[in-house]
Amino acid sequence: MDYLPVFFRIEQQPCLVVGGGHIAKRKVSLLLKAKAKVTVIALDVLPELQDVVLKSGGEVIIAGYHASYLNGKRLVIAATDDDILNRQVFADSEVLNIPVNVVDSPELCRFIFPSIIDRSPVVIAISSSGQSPVLARMLRTRLESMIPAAYGQLAEFVGKFRKQIQATLPDTSVRRAFWEKELQGRFAELVYNGRLDEAETHLQHALIANQPPSGEVYLVGAGPGDPDLLTFRALRLMQQADVVVYDRLVSQPILDLCRRDADMVYVGKARADHAVPQEDINHLLVRLAKEGKRVCRLKGGDPFIFGRGGEEIEELAEAGIPFQVVPGITAASGCSAYAGIPLTHRDYAQSVRFVTGHLKDGTPNLPWSELIHERQTLVLYMGLVGLAEICQQLIAHGMRPDMPVALVSHGTTPKQKVLIGEIQNIAEKVANSGIKAPTLTIIGDVVKLQDKLAWFGG
Ligand code: SAH
Repeated sequence: MDYLPVFFRIEQQPCLVVGGGHIAKRKVSLLLKAKAKVTVIALDVLPELQDVVLKSGGEVIIAGYHASYLNGKRLVIAATDDDILNRQVFADSEVLNIPVNVVDSPELCRFIFPSIIDRSPVVIAISSSGQSPVLARMLRTRLESMIPAAYGQLAEFVGKFRKQIQATLPDTSVRRAFWEKELQGRFAELVYNGRLDEAETHLQHALIANQPPSGEVYLVGAGPGDPDLLTFRALRLMQQADVVVYDRLVSQPILDLCRRDADMVYVGKARADHAVPQEDINHLLVRLAKEGKRVCRLKGGDPFIFGRGGEEIEELAEAGIPFQVVPGITAASGCSAYAGIPLTHRDYAQSVRFVTGHLKDGTPNLPWSELIHERQTLVLYMGLVGLAEICQQLIAHGMRPDMPVALVSHGTTPKQKVLIGEIQNIAEKVANSGIKAPTLTIIGDVVKLQDKLAWFGG
């Protein structure tokens, strides 16, 4: 993080704007929205700028800039087209430790202005740390369209009941659960529709009826790595869980989307290094839910595809704990799409088979004869150990030695790599490639299409 995001309370605080043109005017109106006491200094000031400043109780000084105008100021903005003057304002402010912003000169800024979504009192600020203001603005447009216009009204209305509800529900997690329920349900709808009296009645009733929350478990598929591939439901539950129990395959950008104050419990398993045995994970989920926690069991890909999700919910069901399962994009779908390899194709493959291979005494244990079929794509969910052996066995059981193979490593993430070969030489290629787990192996004629269809990382 290059900048610290903060919200600055500048109501009635003296702020200086150097410059009197259109850019200065934009900054002044922002400062006035936050009720600052603005001084504008410039040799030339737009009449409408002068008007708003004077009306707000600020002052306009028609004069050349001098460092003495900085005295006692909380914030300084330089918005002139005179580069030397801008630099001077920056240097003088730095000496006095006053936060300063020179418009459109990131190197002359002690603070920068974010893109803003204003649903006061709810305000969302977005910054690209000056790297791409256009991207920040695009993100802002998306959020604007997602957040109900009356969100601010909702926040304001809720503020009136905070103290009362804090007193009635002193336990933080009980209170949070109460608000989460009400802010996503009928209460919120009533406020959005301006029916404030009814909303209040509803809230008071809900408060009397409120029960301590019972725990539950969300078994959530997090997809193969790219956070864009999460489902809406996955995201919602990740943001509402008290505890997140996650695996090695869940990527950091996805973990970053979980609720900030959720307890994060890592139970990942590296091959041959079972960090937490499966039974212990099952027990852990039951125990946390019994404590009244909302537990998000976050798993790579889809929880029901080589994810042992079934075993986990079996134990929950036995213990009578409510749960829900959220499907995720499995590695085969994610990796094949991002590598440009359709898993089926009318000309090349009519079926696709997902396989995982366990090594038994160092040898993969697979139903070989079932794997060798014309026009069938094979997807191997497993790491690199045993790949050479599998390829040899496939050839020994009759697969064409020149059958195309693609190995996708870290699929759908910025680290994605695709290695193309044939079953007779892929193991050798892998050995020389430095490619790392997790890897997914796709075997079949569909791999030939990769050349034409790759669009990302291929
Ligand atoms: N439930 C998961 C699979 C778990 S098995 C899912 O539906 O995707 C673990 C195997 O999945 C790994 O050994 C690897 O073969 C594959 N895998 C998972 N994520 C992957 C990724 N981003 N890139 C390549 N392979 C991946």
